[in-house]
Amino acid sequence: MGHSLWQSVLGEIEVSVSHATYMTWFKNTELLETTDESVTIAVPNIFAQRQFEVKFNDQIKEILEKNGVKPTTISYVVKTNKNKPVTSRETTRTETKAADRLVAPLPKKQTATNGLNPRYTFANFIVGSSNDLAYSACQAVAKNPGTKYNPLFLYGGVGLGKTHLIQAVGNEITAKSPETAVLYISSETFVNDFLESIRFKKKGFADKYRNIDVLIVDDMQFIAGKEKTQEEFFHTFNALHQANKQIIISSDKPPRNIPTLTERLRSRFEWGMSIDIQMPDFETRCAILEAKAAASSAEIDRSTVEYLANNVKTNIRELEGALNQLLAYSEMRGIPADISTAEGLIGNVRRSRPQHLSSRQIIDKTARHFQLTTAEICSSKRDKHIVTPRQIAMYLLRSELHLSFPKIAAELGRKDHTTAIHSVEKIEKAIKLDFMIREQVAELREKLYA
Ligand code: ADP
Ligand code: MG
Repeated sequence: MGHSLWQSVLGEIEVSVSHATYMTWFKNTELLETTDESVTIAVPNIFAQRQFEVKFNDQIKEILEKNGVKPTTISYVVKTNKNKPVTSRETTRTETKAADRLVAPLPKKQTATNGLNPRYTFANFIVGSSNDLAYSACQAVAKNPGTKYNPLFLYGGVGLGKTHLIQAVGNEITAKSPETAVLYISSETFVNDFLESIRFKKKGFADKYRNIDVLIVDDMQFIAGKEKTQEEFFHTFNALHQANKQIIISSDKPPRNIPTLTERLRSRFEWGMSIDIQMPDFETRCAILEAKAAASSAEIDRSTVEYLANNVKTNIRELEGALNQLLAYSEMRGIPADISTAEGLIGNVRRSRPQHLSSRQIIDKTARHFQLTTAEICSSKRDKHIVTPRQIAMYLLRSELHLSFPKIAAELGRKDHTTAIHSVEKIEKAIKLDFMIREQVAELREKLYA
């Protein structure tokens, strides 16, 4: 009975989420137990556990109810192998040296020649609305390299997971078909290789880059201004593309905004798929922190997680850094890694920051960004060129300051808070579907924290 019930839940989920989401989160799940009050579902790992708790719970509840099961609680337990379900609390704590945590857990050495670092996988990448498009595109490419999305161009600010994702593509392809020649390089390596081949009249440069099946070039912005190298890259690109080889590129900006990128290279980059990746929202930041803490077998309570997620909003690298610092510090001092320790550490960081963001600043800066006055954005005018910026301001008040909806409405001179709910939802959706809105919100966020 449990089995067929879960099969029908999965069936409904499968048609309502993307294929990538389904394969990542739902494939290895199973219904362990149903009683009148509770339903217990086994999930494969702690990342999945968090995703289910925060993201899929409502949906699952709804489908269960449709199938006649009305539990008061649904719990998700991690089941690592067939006989041993454990909850996240029961994971054994292994000792990690404090010193190890001070540095980000980067690998000691990279695997020989393909440039791939096994640390970066899809499984340990947390998906939220800020990065799910990028994630799905990368998974699609990993599944069928060289078919669609060629080139795949991923862009976004530092520390947001570009390297992680494009490396995950390479790792996944290598794991599935070891005979596929994958090469990951930074564009700087390409530049240096190229210059060396000219300077020392080295042979084999062209072959090295043209005899591969999947070329991953990270941080393409470094090639800006280097015309000869761009020209060489252009030929490499064409050779690979014509042979249906997959090309994946990352950069801090979209192709059209990279200064001094030659026009023909720019147009090549725009052939395939360009996707941006943004700073994750609060919930996703919490999920990332919890996953990272679990990966280093550290226990950290929810309020501390929320404190960190609330106070580090620049990028994920800094978020990871703050967590590592907290864990290392508390271990060295023999004190708990709790919210007061975190406050002591982060407080310093924050004080050195120029300012703390207020709702006024969000509203003013949003208005200015769209060439409106604060009075206009707070007015009741319904012109489209004012309405969308107003909705974006509401969205930012929610995503950056977690203001309540009535508070958001009040900040923008509204009495009715349902407008605020509607606006925030609208922008959340638009960010996924509308490239322009996504860009505007990303630019604004950058301005807010500049
Ligand atoms: P970028 O290349 O965009 O500058 P990275 O890929 O180096 O950023 O990411 C910075 C750090 O944050 C890495 O340690 C990476 O593993 C981690 N990270 C970024 N995004 C996520 C995510 N969604 N889930 C888990 N870890 C992430
Ligand atoms: Mg990077």
